[in-house]
This record gives sequence, C-alpha cells and structure tokens, in this order.
Amino acid sequence: MTSPTWHERARDLQIDGRALIDGQRTWARSEQRFDNRSPIDGRLLGSVARCDAADVDIAVAAARAAFDDGRWANFAPAKRKRILVKFADLVQQHAAELALLETLDMGKPIKYSQAVDVAGAANCIRWYGEAIDKVYGEIAPAPANSLALITREPVGVVGAIVPWNYPMLMASWKIAPTLAAGNSVVLKPSEKSPLTALRLADLALQAGIPPGVFNVLPGFGNEAGSALALHMDVDCIAFTGSTRVGKQILQMAGQSNLKRAWTELGGKSANIVCADCPDLDAAVAASVGSIFFNQGESCNAPSRLFVEESIRAQFIEKALALVPAFTPGDPLDERTVMGAIVDDIQLNTVMGYIEQGKAAGAKLVAGGERVRLESGGYYVAPTIFDQVSPDMAIAREEIFGPVLSVLGFTDVREAVRQANASPYGLHAAVWTSDLSKAIQTSRALRAGTVHVNQYDNDDITVPFGGYKQSGNGRDKSLYAFDKYTELKTTWIQV
Ligand code: NAD
Repeated sequence: MTSPTWHERARDLQIDGRALIDGQRTWARSEQRFDNRSPIDGRLLGSVARCDAADVDIAVAAARAAFDDGRWANFAPAKRKRILVKFADLVQQHAAELALLETLDMGKPIKYSQAVDVAGAANCIRWYGEAIDKVYGEIAPAPANSLALITREPVGVVGAIVPWNYPMLMASWKIAPTLAAGNSVVLKPSEKSPLTALRLADLALQAGIPPGVFNVLPGFGNEAGSALALHMDVDCIAFTGSTRVGKQILQMAGQSNLKRAWTELGGKSANIVCADCPDLDAAVAASVGSIFFNQGESCNAPSRLFVEESIRAQFIEKALALVPAFTPGDPLDERTVMGAIVDDIQLNTVMGYIEQGKAAGAKLVAGGERVRLESGGYYVAPTIFDQVSPDMAIAREEIFGPVLSVLGFTDVREAVRQANASPYGLHAAVWTSDLSKAIQTSRALRAGTVHVNQYDNDDITVPFGGYKQSGNGRDKSLYAFDKYTELKTTWIQV
C-alpha cells in the first residue's frame, strides 16, 4: 500500500482551534471565533478562538496560580528536564501532523515545515530541557565574614507574542527557555497562523507539564496581544514581530507594571559580496537561496545585496540562472521549494513594493508578478531588482517577500556605510578572501549576526537578535535564560 499524499492527509486532519487555558481546550469566556483560511488555496481550515482581554485575565490568573504554588517552578531542574525531553520526543512523534498544520496554516513548503520548523522546534525544546540541569549559580568574591550567593530565579509569568512566519519555531524559541527556567507562560500566536502553537501546548500537557503552566490564547494583536502586554500581573513580555509593534510593546510595558520587555524585530539585512570572494558560485547560491527561502518571509533574509561593480554583471547572470528553481508551487508537493505568501494583505504589501521599485526606476531582471496557480492562493514570483539606489523604498524598508534589491559598490567601506545606514541591524554578511578585510568589515557592520563567506549557518547554540531597531534581546543559546530569569543576591553572615 502506498502512503497517503499530503493532500489526502490534509483531508483527514482534525483541527482544533480552541484556546488552551489551565490545561483545558476551551472557546474561552468570550466564545468569539474567527475563520482560519489556508493561503495555499483559500480553503477554510476551521474556527479559531478569538480571545479578548477577559480571557487574558483568566489565563494570566491560571499561570500565576501555577507559578505561585510551585507546581512547575519547584520541580528539581532534572525533573523539568525529563518532562521537556519527553515533550521534544512527542513533537518528533507528531512531526507529520505538525508539519502539515504549519504548511496549511502559513503556506510554506511541506519539506521545509518538516526539516526546518518541526525539527527545529523539537531540537530547541530538547536543548533547553537538557541544558537546565547544567546551569550553576555563583559565589561573589565578597568580604571574609560573609557569603554572597548569586542565583537565577524564574521571572514568574511570561507573556509571549509571536509572528506568523515561523509559527512553531518562534513559539519554541520563547517557550523552551521560559519553561526550562521554571516560569509559567501565556503564549499568543499570530492570528494568521495559530494552529501549531495550540498543538504544541497539547503535547506539553501530555508530556507532563502541569496545567496552567503553558497556556495558549489565539486572537488578534490589538485585543489579546495588547491585553497581555498591558497586564499588571505579567512579569515579562517576550515579543517577536515588526518594529512598529515592538515599539508599542515597550510603551505598554512601561505604562503598566514596567514588566521586563524583550523584542526581536524586523530586518533589512545587508549582504556584501566583494570581487575577491573565494567562491562566486557559492556566494550567488547562498544569496539567492536565502532571500527566497520561506518566500522571503524571514526576518534575517539578505534582502539588500551589495555587489562590487567589477563582478556585478557576472553575479546577476549567475543569479538569474538559479531563479527558475524557486518558481512557486503547491506547498503540499514535496518537490516545492517556494510556497504561498501568508495572506492577501501580505501579498498586496509585497506587490506594492514591487510596483514602487518599478516606478522608482530600479531595473527588474526577474519576476515582478503574482503567480496564479489553479488551486488559487497567494503566490509571488521570485523577484530581483538590479540598479537599486539606496534612497529607494525597496532598498530601505522590510518587504518580507521574495524580492531581492541589488546595489553596486566600488569601495567596501562605502558598502559598509550604506549597510549601517539602515535603522535595522539584524544580520549582515561579507564575502571576501582577504582575511583583514573580512575581519575589519565584520567588526564595522552593526548587526547582531555577521556571516563571513556563507549566509545560512544557524544553530540553537548561538544567540539570535538584533542591534538598533531590530530589537533588544537575544533568542536561542544560554543567553536566552537572561531574559526569563532574575538575578538574586543572597548575603549570608558567617
Ligand atoms: P506583527 O508585529 O504584525 O505581529 C506580531 C505579533 O504581534 C502577532 O502575534 C500579532 O497579533 C501581535 N500584535 C500585533 N499588534 C499588536 C499590539 N498592538 N499589541 C500586542 N500584540 C500585537 O508582525 P508579523 O507581521 O506577525 O511578523 C513579521 C515581522 O516579524 C517582521 O518584521 C519580521 O522581521 C519580524 N520577525 C522578527 C524575528 C526576529 O527574531 N528578529 C523573527 C521572525 C519575525
């Protein structure tokens, strides 16, 4: 018997859009719902709970009760570890279901939902679970008649708000270190892609995370999201999303209880390819592959490409040869590498930028149009603009779609100056075989991550976050614990 196709599996999939509060799936007190449609063909996936401020109050109260009675925080780290490792195992056991939900909900190709999103989420949960019983406290070099202990304690109730582009991965980057550190959490996924966060919370319960510790409230940003950020009993708000909303989150934290507020925001990452780059084919493949990956809906996409003039024509020619491989297709087909844009709003935003680029006089060398599949849905052709000037909107603003803007340079210092002229500072890259130039350039680039002679390296062990208006925190690595713990000093007279 042949195994079912992803389309067949999609037909049989049970979708539960209810919130998860205090260990129960519920339509919440508001009982309001919204329709959740798939961007791959517009099909109705089901109803999802539209939680409001009253529901946030209930979920935060449940999270507070769970934190205060120590049902999770007081477990020995080794016990939290065992449960989180089981949680990661369950994510892997449900890999096909989670990948399918992610693709249907958000539009990314099924092969990446499996290999990147589900695998990454399981790895993240496992890594923080395994890390937590290896974190030690410190003793300060205090005066001889005293002992000063420096320990880390969970911050309490954490509100987490995440975007739609990597729904499960962004949720995991928040909840795994948060839960490992002993906090309770109320997670609000994006209204555009709420389904995998809800299933993650089911699996967490099944793994043994006690009720009330991990709650998920689907809903809209200006309803459930702002209620969470403003809540007086939330100790920390961890936000990933746009810079525009990130600024509001910091204001809401300030105007409520001065909760700790961590933001991971937008980007317009600069990728600088020098004429002496060690392998031009590799530079072209990484540059093109990284901007079109996830339909260009990645915060760290290298959307500004600076190419040294002497190799620019050759670079563009090689890039154009790779473009057809990224033609959008059915996300449920395992061969597809570029899927659907998340919804009509984002499609219109991307198409609007493409029109602006054309009107501003940039040279369209690939794509530039909407792709219409028989199934319907929202698809954009992989698009490259050459001869972009730094003042154009397509060179300055985050498009969050499959659009590459190419700028030329003759002096790498000028490319660095332009790269740094952005309000964003998430990722950057430089390609050169000159070691001094590589080091000088990577030091000069104002970005949280700088790649040298590659673009796509990534690992849970390294911090991820931005300079400037790309945010103020770091996800991943042991540094993420800094966000979800308080440092306590205990003086003991001896
Ligand atoms: P967004 O800011 O519109 O929404 C993000 C989340 O915030 C959603 O859950 C949304 O419902 C919620 N929200 C919206 N308005 C709110 C409000 N007033 N109060 C509280 N919550 C509110 O962003 P998006 O369109 O979902 O995601 C795309 C953005 O996320 C891009 O800018 C991208 O670069 C960024 N991003 C950054 C990272 C990173 O690690 N730096 C990772 C992924 C995405």
